[in-house]
Amino acid sequence: MAAQIIDGKAVAAEVRKQVAEDVKAIVASHGSAPGLAVVLVGEDPASKVYVKNKAAQTVEVGMQSFEYKLPAETSEHEILTLVQRLNANPNVNGILVQLPLPKHVNAEKILNTIDPDKDVDGFHPTNVGRLWIGERTLVPCTPTGSAILAKKAVPSLQGLNAVVIGRSNIVGKPMAALLLRESCTVTVAHSKTKDLPGVCRTADLLVAAVGIPELVKKDWIKPGAIVIDVGINRVPGENGKTKLVGDVAYDECAEVAGAITPVPGGVGPMTIACLLQNTVTAFKIQKGIKD
Ligand code: NDP
Repeated sequence: MAAQIIDGKAVAAEVRKQVAEDVKAIVASHGSAPGLAVVLVGEDPASKVYVKNKAAQTVEVGMQSFEYKLPAETSEHEILTLVQRLNANPNVNGILVQLPLPKHVNAEKILNTIDPDKDVDGFHPTNVGRLWIGERTLVPCTPTGSAILAKKAVPSLQGLNAVVIGRSNIVGKPMAALLLRESCTVTVAHSKTKDLPGVCRTADLLVAAVGIPELVKKDWIKPGAIVIDVGINRVPGENGKTKLVGDVAYDECAEVAGAITPVPGGVGPMTIACLLQNTVTAFKIQKGIKD
């Protein structure tokens, strides 16, 4: 039987709708909307597109958007000073510094300067710790979006054998922490894993976050498994153009999986939606509002 295709675009629209309702309620009770500040340093074309999309969607859900576009030669000290200013600004509830930063800037130092309660990317060590010990926190956006999509396939993830391929700080590790919180039995695979296909075949829920085009093949998939493809890889397409593919060989894996996310149109659209959701959560954390 063909797999259920999990439509990330549609689910992201649902998340944004809920965020817009939350924002309306906040405006009614607190008099002003949450604010998200995005800092872009330099001219990276992909980053410019992301930042533009983030700002547009922030305004669409009724939040305040603050954009800081700085030249590539901006010093580390100047960026740190800006982050400190945003930390102190009560109208700014979320701060996102767009990566990658220019080479002369210590990205870790910048990210660690963001107030953890405004760290809507969820990368600050304090938030990483809070996630692993199960405290309320700001969770990285891509794993959050991936977990929401997985829950579109089954009502509860509890008890599932989950395999996450990839152990990066921005996707693999927080994904594993989130799935553990959902009471999955979690295996984290990586480049040194022995018999990766065999490990994947144990998965009721397989999350691929590797960065290798179509690494995961049909015979790696347990029949009926939920497959969440985080990978975004640009490869040569037809007529000299390029196309996007995931880390999963989509067509063949869709023949075996129970549910699967496409690329594009799967996890990708969820990331900004979850960023907006995190900004509402950040506002609530700062104001001491319970969920
Ligand atoms: P990283 O390069 O930081 O991490 C990749 C991980 O994959 C590493 O843990 C690495 O293992 C593991 N890996 C590499 N090769 C293999 C292999 N042959 N077998 C098993 N594991 C392997 O990537 P990210 O986590 O940042 O991103 C992963 C993918 O997700 C990329 O395609 C990226 O574009 C995409 N992405 C998509 C987002 C979205 O919004 N949808 C957001 C962020 C990322 P080891 O640790 O041993 O080196």
